[in-house]
Amino acid sequence: MASRNDSNFMDTIVSLCKRRGFVFPASEIYGGIGNTYDYGPLGVELKRRVKEAWWTRTVTMRDDVVGLDSAIIQNPKTWETSGHVAGFTDPMVDCKKCKSRFRADKLEDARCPERPSKRPGECGNELTEPRAFNLMFKTQVGAVEGAGSIAYLRPETAQGIFLNFKNVVESSRMKPPFGIGQIGKSFRNEITPGNFVFRTREFEQAEMEFFLPPEQNDHWYQYWRTERHQWYLDFGIDPSRLRMREHAPDELAHYSTGCTDVEYEYPFGWGELEGIACRTDFDLKRHSEASGKDLRWFDPDTKQKYFPWVVEPAAGVDRTALTFLIDAYDEEKVEDETRVVLRFHPEIAPITVGVLPLVKKEGMPEKALEIDRELRRGRYATFYDESAAIGRRYRRLDEVGTPYCVTIDGDTMKDDVVTVRERDTMQQERVKVGELRSWLADRIATWKRPERKS
Ligand code: ATP
Repeated sequence: MASRNDSNFMDTIVSLCKRRGFVFPASEIYGGIGNTYDYGPLGVELKRRVKEAWWTRTVTMRDDVVGLDSAIIQNPKTWETSGHVAGFTDPMVDCKKCKSRFRADKLEDARCPERPSKRPGECGNELTEPRAFNLMFKTQVGAVEGAGSIAYLRPETAQGIFLNFKNVVESSRMKPPFGIGQIGKSFRNEITPGNFVFRTREFEQAEMEFFLPPEQNDHWYQYWRTERHQWYLDFGIDPSRLRMREHAPDELAHYSTGCTDVEYEYPFGWGELEGIACRTDFDLKRHSEASGKDLRWFDPDTKQKYFPWVVEPAAGVDRTALTFLIDAYDEEKVEDETRVVLRFHPEIAPITVGVLPLVKKEGMPEKALEIDRELRRGRYATFYDESAAIGRRYRRLDEVGTPYCVTIDGDTMKDDVVTVRERDTMQQERVKVGELRSWLADRIATWKRPERKS
């Protein structure tokens, strides 16, 4: 049985993802392109649910946060002003012999490609002095090549929010304290990507800039730390594998008054899942100076203009999806067999209900398809399966984390009652077809993370 403590546990996750259609290596038929992945039918649903769970809680359910979808390619002055052109760099060293490039501050974790038992530089080959390597992808806008046509793929979604601060305030009449949330792709030319989708060059972020009167900074910083930590717990993440790591003063950006990472204990060690940062008025002020546009907020009560301060929760969608996958993975012995089960929160699971006719005859498939259609109309993600023995079908649905299976048997044909099997307990209950939707809604709303041995 695979356990989280096994050195090859990540291989188990990667292979499950490929086999069941969560994540595929990108451009696979051409040999791939380093650490880039595509999301398959189940992966895209998983990611969609992560985004939905974030957006619902951070934007839809609140009257003090609105949404935005800003462009990936902005005027390059954006990145000069934000400091990314000059400072968004990693120190890199090259091996003079094999020409491989490594992060100078991560040599401890790196391996020489020629002698994998050695670290770069310890293999006998000489490394260059560290040089700053900018992580932004450059591209070119328009037909004419040249310095004037250079643009960048955004390395974070946050700056698009700052650029639109005034537009949002004027169009939606929001007043500090209020937030603008955004989910979208970001790009970083990471030199040492790795650990599957934990660090890739193209990824999605869910970021929110919360603009506030400076004197409320500490209150909202604490508030968003608590709220974001709670969000992961509410969606079933193991509390013992989640921690809040406050940055030491020497780790903070020069303008920041505080930053906390939400960290998760991955099979490869603790890693950042999300950062909650106090950005003060740094960004609005800089963009105001550079653009010549006054981005101060006019407070009608005090008749004063000021630059709001900002608290920013910034999460990675792909990292969160990976975290849900790893955290949900469980194996248990059931009647001499190993049951692999992803114990996703029902709102995170890519498929919510499996619909299974007991046998492929006596009108059961037709009845099952009718129930399947009815559930889909009620916005439930279902999967209809009539192939193989019922036990096998349950196992296949367990392995992709489907929390409920509805079985249509001979009795259903007479009394319109189905058997619902719950993934976590494997317990079965008879439910009237007409009550199925409300039964499911109730179970989903009251789901609790099961006690786990592993
Ligand atoms: P790291 O220290 O891991 O490089 P970071 O501190 O640079 O991350 P932020 O700029 O704070 O990350 O971005 C916010 C979130 O975006 C991160 O917490 C992470 O979830 C996600 N993220 C950042 N870089 C990547 C990447 N290369 N691949 C996948 N997700 C990423």
